Amino acid sequence: MGVALADVRAMDAADPLRERRDRFVLPDGVIYLDGNSLGALPKATAGRVQDVLAREWGQGLIRSWNAADWIGAPARIAAKIAPLIGAASDEVTVADSTSVNLFKLIAAAVRHLPDRPVILTEAGNFPTDLYIAAGAAELIGRTVRAVPADEVEAAIGPDVAVVVLTQVHYKSGARRDMARITQAAHRAGALIIWDLSHSAGAVEVDLNAAGADLAIGCGYKFLNGGPGAPAYLFVARRHQALLTSPLTGWMGHASPFAFEDAFTPAEGIDRFLCGTPAILAMAALEAGIGEFEGLAMADVAEKGQRLCTLFIELVEQRCSGYGLGLVTPRQPAARGSHVSFRHEQAYPIMQAMIERGVIGDFREPDILRCGFTGLYVGYEDVWRTVETLRDILATQAHREARFWVRSRVT
Ligand SMILES: *Cc1c(COP(=O)(O)O)cnc(C)c1O
Repeated sequence: MGVALADVRAMDAADPLRERRDRFVLPDGVIYLDGNSLGALPKATAGRVQDVLAREWGQGLIRSWNAADWIGAPARIAAKIAPLIGAASDEVTVADSTSVNLFKLIAAAVRHLPDRPVILTEAGNFPTDLYIAAGAAELIGRTVRAVPADEVEAAIGPDVAVVVLTQVHYKSGARRDMARITQAAHRAGALIIWDLSHSAGAVEVDLNAAGADLAIGCGYKFLNGGPGAPAYLFVARRHQALLTSPLTGWMGHASPFAFEDAFTPAEGIDRFLCGTPAILAMAALEAGIGEFEGLAMADVAEKGQRLCTLFIELVEQRCSGYGLGLVTPRQPAARGSHVSFRHEQAYPIMQAMIERGVIGDFREPDILRCGFTGLYVGYEDVWRTVETLRDILATQAHREARFWVRSRVT
């Protein structure tokens, strides 16, 4: 027999992460399955941002660069991200957006390997990764080779300077074997940049165990940093003296307040900073990452996997015969913490779900995507989601015209 409401309630009651949910602002009547796109708001964030506004900015004024250690925010927040991604704190910094950080690292990598003309990536990678690679290639005089997902490893040849891959695919949820592909890149003499946007805070990531060179990732997804939060980047210690950012802003200078005319890069990871950090946004990001304090990433990841597995099982039990097809790998180790199903009418179905308070999202051309974060999603939420989906499919509620109207953001 299938899983019943009593069963999922028992799972929630036995869940050691259950009380973490109370630390987030979650509207009544909403089941939030889009933390992979915009993490929920921690209750601590408003107070933290308000304190930065009223006390640090309002009262402290410019003194707060020192007194409130605004200047130390990138390194301080990086030290909290580092354990989530298997990095040392001096290998990570927080700055700019994921897109800009990717540009910096691609340029740094290809300029380091001037005889190799190719930036290799996968077709169907997250759009900004493809666009930034193309823009950087054009500027620096290299070419981008985007090959089908399963041909990437074979395509890492002696002409490749850098491989740019996303560890967990934004659409399919498929997770790549970071250690194996990193080794393949190194055997060919190439560097590799991992985009962790859909993996950090969702699954266990161990950059140094994998021997990774470079990485970037997003602050507003599983790290709960708020819309447009600052992003992070990782440069393995062994590369820090050899690579330089093409965006030589003064915060990346060895001594910004010496006000010298000539650019001398800072010694360590700070050389990848560019301009003045966005302190209000940094405050929200720091509060968001604070939600992982006192937790083992392994426990958060394991719960995420259980939620994903339950969702797949329930959809297949309760919604069979309605044209849904699983896109995401079934094995937990082969996926991130979101699950995608394909359906011809995915867009209106998701709009109908959202109207009923179950918030996931749609991805072109036919993907219903639901993210499961162990911090604030429960087992009963999964059960209710599937009952909502089943009811919509059974009654064809999504056929109503209003669900077919496309918004700018899907
Ligand atoms: C979300 C995401 C980004 C976001 O980049 P921004 O510069 O923050 O817009 C980049 N890459 C991947 C793989 C993502 O999932």
